[in-house]
Amino acid sequence: MAVSNLTMVSLMEARVPERATVTAGCRERGCTAPASARCAYVDGRGRSCETAWCHRHLHKIGAEGYCRRHASTVAALGGKAKDPRALPAVDHRGASLVNWICIEGHSALHGAVASALKTGEVIFEDRTVNVVRQSDGSRRWERGWRIGDRSGLKSKVLVCVDESDDALVLLAVDDKVIAVAVPPWITRRRSHQAVTPALDASDRTQFYGFLFGHIQRALALRP
Ligand SMILES: [Zn+2]
Ligand SMILES: [Zn+2]
Repeated sequence: MAVSNLTMVSLMEARVPERATVTAGCRERGCTAPASARCAYVDGRGRSCETAWCHRHLHKIGAEGYCRRHASTVAALGGKAKDPRALPAVDHRGASLVNWICIEGHSALHGAVASALKTGEVIFEDRTVNVVRQSDGSRRWERGWRIGDRSGLKSKVLVCVDESDDALVLLAVDDKVIAVAVPPWITRRRSHQAVTPALDASDRTQFYGFLFGHIQRALALRP
């Protein structure tokens, strides 16, 4: 299993607890408006998100309003968000992180899968994040690409985040984890490190390039 250089750095860091602020105002940094509504997210164990936001910074999905993270969690799961068993814990970014990587990294990841197609094969692409239960009972959020032909499913490439660590991205090809990485922007947030947009862009390119290379190599080995 491959571990990216970026991950090696972040795995050695201690986790920095996120600072909680209690205020009657909107939680958005720099916003001085009063908070008008709380995030509507309630996880599978009944724990709710405690953040409150002004009208402008509350993200509407259907009839409900959410903070940014939970709006992206609910959007990532699509219709499955109605099932409490699919919802990550209130402080778990798994579903939204998987979705973000599949969207931001789409051209690299989809391109790697497409480049491995053989004659007669087609790609089936997930549009939302799925949740699967693993043998130890814990959950995994995943989204990806499946390769199939007339005879059925041939291969699958999944971007996954486990319930046990919501910063660690797993790349699985045909049910085998072939690479793990902590995305560079998460490493930075943990260490309160600011970088220039140029360095941020180059780290992201390197991160998606790492995933691209592993997908290509793994699919090239299939029979
Ligand atoms: Zn606001
Ligand atoms: Zn929330």
